[in-house]
Parts: sequence; C-alpha cells; structure tokens
Amino acid sequence: MPELPEVQAHAERLTEQFRGRTLTGFRPITFTALKTALPEPADAYGHQLVTVGRRGKYLLLEFEPVTFAIHLMQGGRLQPDEKQAAKPRGGQARFLFDDGPALLLTEQGSERRAGVWCLPSNVALTSPPLDVLGPEADRLTPEQLAALFEEHPNQRIHGFLRDQRSIAGLGRRLANEVCHRGKISPFAMTRKLGLDGASAVVEAIVATVAEGLEYERSRPDMSSSKDRPGGVHGRTGEPCAVCGDTVRAVEYSGYTVSYCPTCQTGGKVLADNTTSKFLK
Ligand SMILES: [Zn+2]
Repeated sequence: MPELPEVQAHAERLTEQFRGRTLTGFRPITFTALKTALPEPADAYGHQLVTVGRRGKYLLLEFEPVTFAIHLMQGGRLQPDEKQAAKPRGGQARFLFDDGPALLLTEQGSERRAGVWCLPSNVALTSPPLDVLGPEADRLTPEQLAALFEEHPNQRIHGFLRDQRSIAGLGRRLANEVCHRGKISPFAMTRKLGLDGASAVVEAIVATVAEGLEYERSRPDMSSSKDRPGGVHGRTGEPCAVCGDTVRAVEYSGYTVSYCPTCQTGGKVLADNTTSKFLK
C-alpha cells in the first residue's frame, strides 16, 4: 500500500502536471467509486485545480468549492490518462479537464476499496473520512508522541504506528521500518515507551519518511512496494544491514511484522503465531 512518502511524492508530481487545469467532468466508472452524495462533484466544474495535497494516506485534489479526497488502498493508482478508453482495466473513476490528459483512478485486484470522497473545501479536513485521522506522522515532537502513547496505552507500537486514528501516514511497511530504525520491538506496549521511546520513534519516523521521500521523488511514477528502500520489510531470512543477524517475521492474516532480533528484541526470537498457537 502506498504510504506517506509515496502519496506525498505523487501529490507533488500531480500538482506539477495538473495545477491550473479546469475540471470539466467527474465520471465514476464503478458504482462504489464515489463515497459521498453531497456536495456534488459538478460543483467543481469550471474551477481550476489549486493543488494536489495530502492528508495521511489520502490524496487531496483541491478546487475552490470542493476537494476530492482519494484513497488508493492496496492497489489503487491515480494517473494521467491520455487514451480515455471506454473500459479501462481496473477503472474506478475519471477526472476530465478542459484540455490535455484526464486523471484516471484505477484499482487492480478484487478488493475494490479505493475511492473518492467529495468534500466542501472549507471544512474538508474536518469532514469524514479525514476527521478521524491523527496528526501527521512526520510532524510530531517527542512530547506530542509521548502524550499520544498515554492516550493509547494498551497498543503494541507496531499497531499504534499503523492506526490512522493515532497518527496518520504510516502503514505496514513503514511500521516495520520505523521499529527497526528506532531499535524498538514491534511488540513493545505504548505505555512502556515513555519520552525516551517517543524520541527514538520520532527520530526513526523522520529518517524513514525522508529516505522514502528522496527515493520516491527521484522516480517518474509511484514505486511498487518491492522496490522501496528499507531494512526489514519484505526481507525475512536476509541478513540485517545494521548487525548481520537474520531478519525474522511474525505473520498475521494480511500482514507481516518483520524485525531483527539483535537490533530490536535483545536477541529474542519471537514466536511465530502461525505455528505457536498449536503449542498453547
Ligand atoms: Zn539488526
């Protein structure tokens, strides 16, 4: 799933390409693409695209009256569309402009969860679905993060980092990378981390996001997850680049927690829950 660096760099790319273009149409291709009833997308027709912003993992197509919030979920993409085929592969919705290419939202795979929310621009950030998002992950001070740990005392740090209501922008991949870079067990409880733990996590988030952004900005289009930089995510069984220990994983349905025992858990190899449940 695209996370903060991928979405941010893509927002910058789209701003470069589409800013100032006048919207002439919004065409949902599937019934589920548009998630809101009011305001209507037509309210933006005749208005110029001010910018493409970002909040958490949402892209924000900002027009003066309305803002389109777009979530790409797992396999979604929002890309210039020269051809405007009648039935584009994985097509979800299309934005039409006065001249030049359209913008096409596609989602590959069968999940069909990507979507578009049309929000009044003056209250976009406080409207659903953006209203429940926590603060931007890379803008936190250690004190703010420590306060959030106190508000959410009973979460594992890996789960906390992925929970968009706690902090916004990180997902499964960056949660793995932040814990590794911060030398923190992914299973550490938030209530036990304190200000020192919060400082380590803030430093790790800032460095990890900066690394991702630098990579992402060097590319003409959004990367695929296997190409993104990192130390542990998707590297189970490989040697840790920091210490040489073997990167381990705990599997859950839908995601994998990857970690280095020497860097993060005092050398302890955590039980793989996919097998250890039979031992209880
Ligand atoms: Zn290591």
